[in-house]
Amino acid sequence: AGKQARYKRILLKLSGEALMGTEDFGIDPKVLDRMALEIGQLVGIGVQVGLVIGGGNLFRGAALSAAGMDRVTGDHMGMLATVMNALAMRDALERSNIAAVVMSAISMLGVTEHYDRRKAMRHLNGGEVVIFAAGTGNPFFTTDSAACLRGIEVGAQIVLKATKVDGVYTGDPMKDPSAEKYSRLTYDEVLTRKLGVMDLTAICLCRDHHMPLRVFNMNKPGALLSVLLEGNEGTLIEE
Ligand code: UDP
Repeated sequence: AGKQARYKRILLKLSGEALMGTEDFGIDPKVLDRMALEIGQLVGIGVQVGLVIGGGNLFRGAALSAAGMDRVTGDHMGMLATVMNALAMRDALERSNIAAVVMSAISMLGVTEHYDRRKAMRHLNGGEVVIFAAGTGNPFFTTDSAACLRGIEVGAQIVLKATKVDGVYTGDPMKDPSAEKYSRLTYDEVLTRKLGVMDLTAICLCRDHHMPLRVFNMNKPGALLSVLLEGNEGTLIEE
């Protein structure tokens, strides 16, 4: 008999940059296909998957604003970027025969469904992967905050943040070889030690609503499934 998944419903956050693979802009279809397969493995063992994808591989409001653009317009472009990534991910999932739906916080009639919490929960109950696009729908927020918000709204048991590094370290492991990985942290430790796990809004939201968070390396093949079956990848953040 196979192992039991530890969670019935999860919210997985992928950064836009993760979709670039080795490119420096846009989407690498190979990366997309591998992620779709790994997400499909979760669906295969009965896990309900909500997905939030960033847009940093295309546009970020803060960067556009630093280059002279109005910040709110830049954030709108960033949110639209997440919709493009979401459509690409839906396509990759469907090509792997995994049912998926995109629900956007910004109405886009004929292209995506509009975000509706109760409909999202029905899709999740029906085993469809729900991709929450356009972040929170508001400027000055991030898709990390959107992931925590949607996770809390739809009653996910955990928010999983996929990153390039294998969890949260005492320093930057790329620069400091003596940096050590935390296996567990509290929300307050993340805040007081100024560990750049997610932005403050996202961490505070999780803390206030008792939403556990796991940071892990999705570039490591099989890591996602291992989070579900063993619960031992990366760093767990909770009370
Ligand atoms: N964004 C926003 N509101 C949100 C979520 C995202 O305005 O609720 C914009 C913001 O400009 C952000 C961009 O969309 O920089 C892309 O999202 P993010 O930077 O979180 O993507 P990631 O770093 O995960 O790729």
